[in-house]
Amino acid sequence: MKSICEWSELLYKDVTETPNIIPVTDSYGNGEHVNIDYDNIKISNMKIVMKKNFEAELYCSTCSELRNTAVKNLHTNLNSNKIETIIKESRYKDDAPRSFEEYYKFIISKLNVALSPSLWEVTCLQCKSKSYLFIYTNINGQQIIHLSETINGVSTPNTPYEVSYYLDQAHKSKIIGANSAAVVMYRTALEHLLYNQGYTKGMLNAKINELENGINRGTAPRWALNLDVEILKIIKDLGNGAAHTNKGDITKQYLFDSEIVNKLDLVFKYLLEEVYEIEIKRNKLVTKLKDVRNQI
Ligand SMILES: [Zn+2]
Repeated sequence: MKSICEWSELLYKDVTETPNIIPVTDSYGNGEHVNIDYDNIKISNMKIVMKKNFEAELYCSTCSELRNTAVKNLHTNLNSNKIETIIKESRYKDDAPRSFEEYYKFIISKLNVALSPSLWEVTCLQCKSKSYLFIYTNINGQQIIHLSETINGVSTPNTPYEVSYYLDQAHKSKIIGANSAAVVMYRTALEHLLYNQGYTKGMLNAKINELENGINRGTAPRWALNLDVEILKIIKDLGNGAAHTNKGDITKQYLFDSEIVNKLDLVFKYLLEEVYEIEIKRNKLVTKLKDVRNQI
């Protein structure tokens, strides 16, 4: 979820009563000349309720996937009285639209603003793990922090400390929405991963090139032989883009949304499995089978 606006359709329900169409005539008995402004009547009667429980598709950091989740409000100041006040007070604003549909959108944007601060419990319907969304506003606008009960980064059991340290930094940056910082940390984690695997010369670009040459010559480690090196180059380029000035264009940083950092999590999960886990798992399995064979 990039912003609370994505929830608007799940969160609010229009329960405004539609006025009955009654035949109205003017003082001369001419019905066809009387225009009834139904939008105006509906705007005057507008009633919106906020659902405190609903289902939404959100990222589960335990499953490392988008999952259907049950969302429950734990705290908000946006109660029914406040909603009613916002609707009433907005009616007299100069920029208030006149059509019901546009006025409804206008009100929803105001209700979304009033959702700061609020706290939500998110339960993954697949793995049942819980996480918490905290919505608040700072000078950069509305922010969402997503804290999980279970996972602290994507490190696997055999990930070396110097790699998992930077993945943990990326995770901590990600949960407070510091996505540019997270992307730089993923790049550093990759550089440590390659260093740990013996690619010690030069900067990250040189390390990736050396690995690529090794793959082409067939001398690279086994985990690298089926690897698409482009993935590593993308992590490097994204990290550079997050750290460099980009000719003063700060808007480029907005490309690093929560979807991108979640995808980088998935890429690292795959890499760590290939580099540090698969061979150990395979060796354990073979050792077990050999033990049984030796007893026959
Ligand atoms: Zn889950």
